[in-house]
Amino acid sequence: MNKKIMVLPGDGIGPEIVTQALAVLNAVDKRFKLGLSFEEGLIGGASIDQYGEPLTDATLAAAAKCDGILLGAVGGPQWDALAADIRPERGLLKIRSGLSLYANLRPAILYPQLAEASSLKPEVVAGLDILIVRELTGGIYFGEPRGIRTLDNGERQGFNSYVYSESEIERIAHTAFAAAQKRRGKLCSVDKANVLEVTVLWRQVLDRLAPEYPDVELSHMYVDNAAMQLVGAPKQFDVIVTGNMFGDILSDAAAMLTGSIGMLPSASLNESGLGLYEPCHGSAPDIAGQGIANPLATILSVAMLLRYSLDMAVAAEAIEAAVSKVLDANLRTADIYTSGTQKVSTAEMGAAVVAAI
Ligand code: NAD
Repeated sequence: MNKKIMVLPGDGIGPEIVTQALAVLNAVDKRFKLGLSFEEGLIGGASIDQYGEPLTDATLAAAAKCDGILLGAVGGPQWDALAADIRPERGLLKIRSGLSLYANLRPAILYPQLAEASSLKPEVVAGLDILIVRELTGGIYFGEPRGIRTLDNGERQGFNSYVYSESEIERIAHTAFAAAQKRRGKLCSVDKANVLEVTVLWRQVLDRLAPEYPDVELSHMYVDNAAMQLVGAPKQFDVIVTGNMFGDILSDAAAMLTGSIGMLPSASLNESGLGLYEPCHGSAPDIAGQGIANPLATILSVAMLLRYSLDMAVAAEAIEAAVSKVLDANLRTADIYTSGTQKVSTAEMGAAVVAAI
């Protein structure tokens, strides 16, 4: 089985953390004989410096032919003065829209070893393991008509349209049901069906598809209640599925439950299962080049790549278990360091995960 992975290290700490994630991928490749191969490309500021644009059509086409894409992060102060349409972040938008990556999967996992890092009480969050599935290419962020208009009385009015077609809801629902099947079999759909017709339809579609997944228990929750439950009793959730805007807000809230941005992976998938895998954090220019960035979010993104795009769950679990093992051994990069633990560099953390595999 030969599976090809596109590697886009990007800017800032991107190349440092991707180097460690690649070492981990090579380790599982060797241990489980996965038959992985890699192609490296440029994105973000690195691509602007080389080609004058944040993602070339050739790189996008090459990525589309791969089985999965690993991305570090993009951006940095040296490109901040550029026009909006050629800034590093445009490369991200181009790859997301160019590959129709409509499903954003963001796990919020709090390793029990890091419970002290959360702003919530350890007993509320220890062992937390939630997956938020957010629709990424529709909803109110993209709905037309939109704009700011001047009314007859001269007052200005801003307006957006919250629109979801049945097929858009169906495809994100299938992604979420399938993800729940691979986890603890619980799916909570978050909407505002007491007020918004678009989410009445959302709820109807979820209910209609539920019988196709008899091993998944579907429930519904209004978004205001979901926000309260996330910070009050977050461990009740397994998989949450929701639209673009609610997902944007809830996934950031869930991320903060874990206390550390350096630990959070993400995936963005399209209908054929191709996915872009990246840490939730940015390029951290403030610490780039110092060898102190936490590579675990990127290493955990690689585990997601193996699970969701390559269907190699055993290798994914081996990586996740190895991460847990290095945390058990009290190894910590600076961002998750607490007294009594051992502070290690980016490379030492990566090497420890490789050794644990
Ligand atoms: P950031 O996530 O890069 O950094 C926020 C803070 O978290 C910084 O103090 C940083 O040092 C720290 N941090 C982030 N990742 C870390 C890691 N792995 N280990 C240890 N500490 C870590 O966000 P920002 O500072 O707002 O943005 C910096 C640049 O990144 C900007 O150019 C921004 O546009 C870009 N950005 C890119 C992405 C992406 O590529 N997906 C996402 C967010 C921001």
